[in-house]
Amino acid sequence: MESGKKSYEAFWKQALKDLMDDISEQEFSTWFRGIEYIGSGDSQIALSVPSSFIKDQISQRYLTKIEEKLAELAGQELAVKFSIQKKASSKGSHEEGGRLQKAEETVTRKRQHPQLNKEYTFERFIIGESNSFAANAALAISRNPGTGYNPCLIYGGVGLGKTHLVQAIGNSVYHEFPDLKVAYVTVETFANEFILSIQKKTGHQFKNKYRLVDVLLIDDIQFLEGKEGTQEELFHTFNALYDANKQMLFTSDRPVAEIRSLSDRLRSRFERGLNVDLQPPNYETRMAILNRKVEEKKVNIPDEVVEVICRNINTNVRDLEKALTKLIAYAELVNKNITLDIARQQLKDFFAQPSQKNITIELIQKIVSDYFGLSYKDLRGKRRTKAVAFPRQVAMYLSRELTEYSTTEVGAEFGGRDHTTVMHACQKIEDRMKLDPNIEPTLQTLLKQIKENNV
Ligand code: ADP
Ligand code: MG
Repeated sequence: MESGKKSYEAFWKQALKDLMDDISEQEFSTWFRGIEYIGSGDSQIALSVPSSFIKDQISQRYLTKIEEKLAELAGQELAVKFSIQKKASSKGSHEEGGRLQKAEETVTRKRQHPQLNKEYTFERFIIGESNSFAANAALAISRNPGTGYNPCLIYGGVGLGKTHLVQAIGNSVYHEFPDLKVAYVTVETFANEFILSIQKKTGHQFKNKYRLVDVLLIDDIQFLEGKEGTQEELFHTFNALYDANKQMLFTSDRPVAEIRSLSDRLRSRFERGLNVDLQPPNYETRMAILNRKVEEKKVNIPDEVVEVICRNINTNVRDLEKALTKLIAYAELVNKNITLDIARQQLKDFFAQPSQKNITIELIQKIVSDYFGLSYKDLRGKRRTKAVAFPRQVAMYLSRELTEYSTTEVGAEFGGRDHTTVMHACQKIEDRMKLDPNIEPTLQTLLKQIKENNV
């Protein structure tokens, strides 16, 4: 038995070596650095891992490969068992114990960070091909804030996990480094607070709030477009933090180069550090994500239903979540089990446009301005002439109908208008549709053109 154990350890070491040849050094050290061989039993190897997150990631990504290698080396199948071993915990603690301890630590250390959503953690973030670069960068930053990738910019389309990732960094640093001050803010909130601080003459307080932090997370910097004062303020905040080696993280729905009317000096600051992108998830990753969501929600959904959703919805994670939520709500309300037929029936709107890319507000504005013979600039602009009022309302209405953007976000794309203006515009169009039979066909024509041009 003793000699058997010894050779198991040798097999494990060899399997790791082989794996090292297959993956990058960075990837290897991200996942395997904290792993230890702790022993073996009949046909199994026991390893300790630092967290259940690492365990899940290794299981998802590498376990099959590792077990194959072990079987090859040992000439028999060896199962790999993990136990979670937090650094501070006593030896034989098993997984549940580890979790409990972690929960206790969290309670005694600090409560939930007020600006962060506690659901947005690394544990809940599924890593696949499309997001592994960004996720690994985020993980690395959360372990060593301020020392490596600074600043960092994560960019990618709507619903791909930008907010989740930056908040995961925030949550992780907040709990793992109790001495560090973490601030999370969207550009819109930052801009509003800045404006308010001018009005109330509390500029000093505002500056302190963001310049005296250790980790600053700023979400959705594409909304800096056209906000000169806020850009200026952020520029100074950036410099103060950068000089003090504080970690900064930004997200954007597009590469920095494509953010319009951004001052050159701020642009060059954003581009200074690491810029990583998030891509739409492939089928396998969508399956992994949706299966996890089904588990989290503790609902009973047949595998074939999960599959059909993932095959038909390939836009982004938010759409996957929406489909799932709708299905669960339906099943609860009519008190039925979810079947393939019910899923197809209930989700037909989600499935209708299988491979449509996300429609952008910009595209809608281009099509609408062409259609009405206006310039794109006027449609987006601030001028309030009669000729442009109705087309603009139409474009706002379509933006709300065809994209995921909020009224505030839509307003920002139309000369920085307020969200109430957008709501008003949508209401206007809906009212007019009831009175004027010509409006509906116009909207249909525009819709068709938008879809045709969305390639
Ligand atoms: P974005 O900020 O890019 O628009 P979000 O971070 O708001 O996207 O993500 C949309 C939803 O999808 C959130 O509920 C988030 O938790 C979920 N999500 C995105 N990517 C993943 C992932 N890789 N694993 C699990 N959930 C994800
Ligand atoms: Mg977001």
